[in-house]
Parts: sequence; C-alpha cells; structure tokens
Amino acid sequence: MNTPILSVVIPVYNEEASLPALFARLYPALDALDKAYEIVFINDGSRDRSAAMLADQFHLRSDVTRVILFNGNFGQHRAILAGFEHARGEQIVTLDADLQNPPEDIHLLLAQMDIGYDYVGSIRRQRNDSLWRHVASRLMNRMRERITSIKMTDQGCMMRAYSRRIVDTINQCNEMNTFIPALAYTFAQNPTEVTIGHEERHAGESKYSLYSLVRLNFDLMTGFSLVPLQLFSMLGMLISLGSGLLVTYLMLRRLIIGPEEGGLFTLFAIAFFLIGIALFGIGLLGEYIGRIYNEVRQRPRYLISAILEKNEQSDKESA
Ligand code: UDP
Ligand code: MG
Repeated sequence: MNTPILSVVIPVYNEEASLPALFARLYPALDALDKAYEIVFINDGSRDRSAAMLADQFHLRSDVTRVILFNGNFGQHRAILAGFEHARGEQIVTLDADLQNPPEDIHLLLAQMDIGYDYVGSIRRQRNDSLWRHVASRLMNRMRERITSIKMTDQGCMMRAYSRRIVDTINQCNEMNTFIPALAYTFAQNPTEVTIGHEERHAGESKYSLYSLVRLNFDLMTGFSLVPLQLFSMLGMLISLGSGLLVTYLMLRRLIIGPEEGGLFTLFAIAFFLIGIALFGIGLLGEYIGRIYNEVRQRPRYLISAILEKNEQSDKESA
C-alpha cells in the first residue's frame, strides 16, 4: 500500500445493519476520487456482528482498509482519536458509519482543503432527525456559541475534514473526554464550512440516548470554557450584594419600626431559590472536578485488542 493522501476515519458501534450499504457506497465514492486513500475503521466494542463484518471487508479490500478493534465501548470521540493516531494521510476525513452523511459528498470537503483551508466543517443541508434532537441541538448550539469562542454553524455533524497538522496537534492532546470538531477548531488556522447532504438513519438506531447527549454537551461546555464557572461567581456576587442590602434594610426596620411577623412562606421561597442556585453551583463545580479527576488518573483512553492491516497484520496489545 503506498502512502495514502486521504484517510477516512469511521467509528463503528453496533452498526451491522448499516455496514453493507456503507461498504457498497463508500469504496466506489473513494475510488472515484482518484487519490491514494485508506479507510480506518474503529470497532468501538460492538456487541453485534460489526467486528466480523469489518474483518471480512478487510480481507476483501486489504489494500485500502485498516481495522482497529477496541476491547470495550469507549465512545465515538475516543474511537476517532484512535483513528487519528493510526491515520497516515495528509487529509483526514471523519465520517459516521450510519450513512446519515453521504460518502459521495467527501469530495466537497476535499475541494475546500485543496484550496488551502485546513479545517472543513459541515452543515447539514436538511436535517433529518427527530424533532426533539432538532430543538435540543439548536439550543446547545446557541449556548456553545455564547460561552466558547468556537464558531460552528452545526456542531452535530461529524463529517469533517482535517489537515495533517491539526490531527498531529490533536494527537498530542491527552484529554480523556473531548469533542473532536471543537478541539480541532481551536487548532485550525484557516477553517471553513460546506453544506452537505443529510439523510435519516436507514438502519439501526441512534447510539446516543438523551443522557449521553447531555454528557457530551457538558464535555463541550466544560472542556472548552470556564465561562460557566465565571458566570457563577458573578451570580454569587450579585446575590450576596442583594442579601447584604436586605439584611441592612431588615436591621434598620427592626430598630425603627420594631420586630415583624408573617412572611414565612416568602422567606421559604427565597431560601429554596437560593438553595437551588447553590446546589446547581456545586454540581457545576463537580463537572469541572470530575474532568480534573479523569485527567489526573491518566488511565488509557481506550484499549486496542487487535489491529487488522496489511503486512503487519498483528494482534498488538496496546495501552
Ligand atoms: N459510535 C461509536 N461509539 C459509541 C456511539 C456511537 O463509535 O459509543 C459511532 C456510531 O457507530 C456512528 C457514529 O458514532 O458511526 C455516530 O453515532 P450515531 O449515528 O448513533 O449518532 P447520531 O447520528 O444519532 O448523533
Ligand atoms: Mg447518526
């Protein structure tokens, strides 16, 4: 296999229903580019037949296919990180295995790279997801826009292209939990975006529950910004100022008019409100402390059980 110019990195988790169609569309699309390419599949601990299907595909097209097998489920972003570490191309494209973004559009991203952009983001032309995903992601997009300096029209779309320099820089980062498009954006010198197609998931189902989406967005906020914490100290300052004024007022009132009675439930309401804010603040601190905790443990981000590739077809034990 001569050195590839293009590496396509694809995380796969329980995608047995999508893989046949993916293989059928991806390889012709890449062959048509007339560029030396490789496809790096990462099997993220699938419990279905995905691993076996990837191995079969590897034997069919071992000239351009490499497969990294994780021995557990480490999540989409860590799978992509593993792909980055093993990718050899000058241009690296990430793609989901579920065909929601058409592999036939990869050339649109590469055209921008050829012009000289080092990061090509993507915007879904017409998003085909459930309504709640639409609304939630619009909301998260807007919040991210406010509290981080990352400019991205459509943060949910993973089909993107990165230059070798950006991927090398990402490979030097050892954050445990991250959000690849945002991390890459912070290293980009010349980013741009293109509009690509988006289809409904034809087979299988989304691997993200509401809970994991919320987690991912916490990673995005706390991993790229201190603004939530800073807002909180500002809020704390305002509240203490307000309560200081209230105490002064009540003290003067006590001295001038005398003791008051009643207003018990108003007091409760105020107290509950403040307790709520305090609990939220503790939770927020917890998010950051959790991140720090994950970092200091320095456990491996993922474990590879085997790598299928031509020549050095081996079972590497890797940490
Ligand atoms: N994925 C993964 N590990 C996970 C979850 C997802 O490798 O723990 C892969 C999945 O196989 C797919 C991509 O990440 O290729 C995006 O997942 P999905 O399509 O379920 O996400 P959605 O499109 O619903 O955001
Ligand atoms: Mg999808």
